[in-house]
Amino acid sequence: MAPRVRFAPSPTGYLHVGGARTALFNYLYARRHGGRFLLRIEDTDVERSSADMVTGILDGLRWLGITWDEGPEVGGPHAPYFQSERLERYSAAADRLVASGHAYACYCAPERLRGEREAAEAKGEAWKYDRACLALTPERLAELRAEGAPHAIRFKVPEGTVSFNDAVHGPIAFEGATIEDFVIRRSDGYPTYHLSVVVDDAEMAITQVVRGDDHISNTPKHVLLFQALGAAVPEFAHVPLIVGTDKKRLSKRHGATSVLEYQKAGYLPDAMVNFLALLGWAPGDDREVMTREELIASFALEGISGGNAVFDTAKLDWMNGQYIAALDDAALLATVTPLLETAGLWPLAAGSADRSEAWLLTLLGLLKPRAKRLTDFLEQARPFLTDTVDYDTAAVEKHLSPAHTREQLAALIGALRGVEPFTEPGVEAAVRGTAEALGIKAGALIHPTRVGIIGKTTSPGIFESIVLLGRERTIARLEHAQSFSAVGA
Ligand code: GLU
Repeated sequence: MAPRVRFAPSPTGYLHVGGARTALFNYLYARRHGGRFLLRIEDTDVERSSADMVTGILDGLRWLGITWDEGPEVGGPHAPYFQSERLERYSAAADRLVASGHAYACYCAPERLRGEREAAEAKGEAWKYDRACLALTPERLAELRAEGAPHAIRFKVPEGTVSFNDAVHGPIAFEGATIEDFVIRRSDGYPTYHLSVVVDDAEMAITQVVRGDDHISNTPKHVLLFQALGAAVPEFAHVPLIVGTDKKRLSKRHGATSVLEYQKAGYLPDAMVNFLALLGWAPGDDREVMTREELIASFALEGISGGNAVFDTAKLDWMNGQYIAALDDAALLATVTPLLETAGLWPLAAGSADRSEAWLLTLLGLLKPRAKRLTDFLEQARPFLTDTVDYDTAAVEKHLSPAHTREQLAALIGALRGVEPFTEPGVEAAVRGTAEALGIKAGALIHPTRVGIIGKTTSPGIFESIVLLGRERTIARLEHAQSFSAVGA
């Protein structure tokens, strides 16, 4: 049977890294086995859910290329896929469970229960509902019903062991005695998460539930509900928590947690997918850089580790650098040009006819091997795309302010005027020849030259940079750079 899996976010926040990783594992599993991947929005908590968050979640998944086969916007045989539009199903299921003796009405005043719970917790004791309403006489129950007294519905947890075989953690068992008769429908008629998730997983014929470790303690309740509803119990796979390099649960402190912030920060979606896939899963060999197709072909629940997964931004940067380096010319232009446009760096103003799209591509090709994030291109390309150089004070102080740089740059300017044609070998010969004539090492001339034309001490290769800038711009910048040099005594 082809698997049916789902990602079931609550739209109470944006799509964060942990949610995206859960969605990805479900997606990879479905694609690997020719199954269906469903997206279900768990928005029964009306006050904390918002349409904006739903949009953010869908946008995040779309950016990552995690496509769903059933769910919002695409529909499917089990529509609607928003729990807020399925409330009557949960209510009916609660009534069925009462009728079959698996659940019962609880008329207890919430204040009493809260008070007892708080008192027990203050003493460091566990508290469990005392089943007071199970002891009500049929007469009293009839009275309460006739009055229309507000009531919740509680699941009657049977005695004995509840167990399931977790695909990641192996067999897990809970004692029924430790589980309280949990509420499945509140007195306001709304279902609790336990009821709605199980009713939907049953109706939507979900075969594997792949979700975060934090749900392990909910699973025995869910197993009991599936059984009481007469539905097949899906297989469970609880995926490890994501922690920062400090081993603490990933949070804002570690930087961005919303997936779309990674888009803004200059990460490629394919790199992000590759990185997320390796958060708690491994292909079983030492491969790390894997295409989406390779991930799909290798993904297996058995490859998920039980231990926490460490989110290492340095590794993500490395991974992203690998993907940037692999971009071909067309992809490089298509990816970076929009960023340059947004930053107002491209297209260039009139008078820059020599700097065509082919020229831009050469520039981006030079920057590509060193770029870790797309935003690096902006930083590095800026000196080539604007006519005002932003001089780094420390670099100027070190490399341009000495008195001798004025004459050294003058000598180089003279040599550059004579380079014909103005290509890399010619420029290199001019720089090296000038250094030799000045009796200094080539490096000693290259440093002030670089700061003079780029404004800082890092740039692509200096000869390539000079050729890209062109003779006139290079000379104009070197002439300007001379003005930083102390006038010799
Ligand atoms: N809405 C739940 C959550 O966001 C879904 C958990 C589950 O996958 O069952 O945590």
